[in-house]
Amino acid sequence: MSKELIFLVEDEVHIQQLVKYNLEANGYRVLTFGSGEGLLEEVQCSIPRLFILDLMLPGMDGFEICKQLRSNPGTKNIPIIMLTAKSEEFDKVLGLELGADDYLTKPFSVRELVARVKAILRRMTNAAPAEIEIIRHGNIVMNLSRHEVYKNDQLKEMPLKEFELLKMLLLNKGKVLSRELLLDKIWGFDYYGETRTIDVHIRYIRQKIEDDDSNPEYIETIRGIGYRFSDRTNEQ
Ligand code: CA
Repeated sequence: MSKELIFLVEDEVHIQQLVKYNLEANGYRVLTFGSGEGLLEEVQCSIPRLFILDLMLPGMDGFEICKQLRSNPGTKNIPIIMLTAKSEEFDKVLGLELGADDYLTKPFSVRELVARVKAILRRMTNAAPAEIEIIRHGNIVMNLSRHEVYKNDQLKEMPLKEFELLKMLLLNKGKVLSRELLLDKIWGFDYYGETRTIDVHIRYIRQKIEDDDSNPEYIETIRGIGYRFSDRTNEQ
């Protein structure tokens, strides 16, 4: 079984490292961020099983991150644990109202945090995990955990890079994504390739999800820039 991925936003390096170390020792995979901006960029291409957000951060604070995650179709059902400072009693409540699933007050015991993480993930596994893992748009359905794409209930064969590309476009519905960004996010910064790679993959994806791939209505080409998944098509 692959390790469950957790995203942690914490600007205090020693807490960040302590939490990461302990979660990894308990079999989780942890990606750390020093700011909300970094996290929000990452969720455009990968989605974890759980978020741990520090409340007080430079730039965007934990509440704002929470709000953004809750308004994004790809992350709105992913549980969030908030880390708050002691004096923030009022804020705690607000955190839960904003949709955090749990919170811990600093200084907290890392063992307690690990226990909470386990409890939330266990609860999630028991409670219809399919709901969290599915992105729908009209007659297109992506099942993220099973790596499947359906068009009109028909399973489409989709290699990993195509799948990741479609997922990223769909999670950013209505936004124009440049070829460079897509290449960086999906192939990696050290990938030695051309942006034309993206065009080729888009062509394959269109053949699978568009009614008429020479006249695409889902994935729009934005001349000179890149692509956009249309948010005009009916959502149902
Ligand atoms: Ca902090």
